[in-house]
Amino acid sequence: MIAPINDVNIPDQLAILKRPSKKGEVSTAVSLAQHLEETARQYPNCVGLASNQIWDKPNEDTPHVFVAHVGGVWRTFINATSRRHGKRGRVAEGCMSKPGYKTHKIRFERITITYLDAQGIEKTEHFQGMDAVIIQHELDHLTGALI
Ligand SMILES: [Zn+2]
Repeated sequence: MIAPINDVNIPDQLAILKRPSKKGEVSTAVSLAQHLEETARQYPNCVGLASNQIWDKPNEDTPHVFVAHVGGVWRTFINATSRRHGKRGRVAEGCMSKPGYKTHKIRFERITITYLDAQGIEKTEHFQGMDAVIIQHELDHLTGALI
């Protein structure tokens, strides 16, 4: 299912975007990840999408899941925890929930995340460069932080 993307300019949707996600049940997150990826693939410039960007239930907790185009493929990350490493630098970023907006964010050059994949299998993996930036951007969404 291709879902509409929540937009910061719409008050109800902004409330969902600002609400932190909740780590929990995997089957709901797996199903949601499929919708996230199908939606993200509709936009040629999209490299990641977090669950609260398509969640439409203001009174329910958003599952903690995002998809990201890293290493040349779309990947699913459920209930992720992270450690950030290395130098920090300014990176130009945009966001699907802020159409047309660009800003600079301070990002770490490397990140290690432990997560469940699309099959619910726990993995720990290291990312660097733009892949690390994309993951930091999506993890920010899940804490309710926007660019
Ligand atoms: Zn974003």
